[in-house]
Amino acid sequence: MREEERVALIIDFDGTAATTNVGMSLIEAFAKDDSWRVIDDDYERGKVGSKRAFELLAEVLGGTPEEWAGFIETGHTLDPDLSTLVECATSKGWSVEILSDGLDFYIHRMLERENISLPVRAATLSHNGVRAIIEMSYSDVDCGRCSTCKKSRVEELLAGGYRTIFIGDGLSDRCGAPSADRIFAKDKLAEHLREHGIGFEHFETLSDVTQALFGAEDKGD
Ligand SMILES: [Mg+2]
Ligand SMILES: [Zn+2]
Repeated sequence: MREEERVALIIDFDGTAATTNVGMSLIEAFAKDDSWRVIDDDYERGKVGSKRAFELLAEVLGGTPEEWAGFIETGHTLDPDLSTLVECATSKGWSVEILSDGLDFYIHRMLERENISLPVRAATLSHNGVRAIIEMSYSDVDCGRCSTCKKSRVEELLAGGYRTIFIGDGLSDRCGAPSADRIFAKDKLAEHLREHGIGFEHFETLSDVTQALFGAEDKGD
């Protein structure tokens, strides 16, 4: 009998597990003024990492936890194939997790809404009665740029003997995706990997990923 392979499936949240960028929408909806646009622009241009961006954005983010919760109930949905992908992977004994440079608050809520239970690594959004607080437990000193450093997590899994499969779409995935054994990418992440000559498989929805990972396996050989 061949030794069972340990596989970790790492799924980005905003724009990947969720069909929209919920974090960005939340900030846009509750920002006290327009300064978030400058912060976001600096992040897009690579002038600041997400860690610094979140430190600044926490000061700009208005609203209360009740208002945030109400906001994400409207117009933000998960990819309809997330549950199938998770079921297929867990039935094979794979480790599956959400690894996000966003905020845990809406990730937990949106997963619970669809009865999907997954470990989540993301920054923590809370409110101290006066203002929003963002705690970044998964930042990494060596990287220094990411609020949740995906590279350090991928490397941790590799060191634990896992074959890593990474699914992502955006700027926050640039740090971690290249370290993974197999990459599914779209949008800005796909552009970045293409520019740097890093191989990946393109996807549009999680249905494509499910098909690529599990689609042909029942045909027998
Ligand atoms: Mg994303
Ligand atoms: Zn990083």
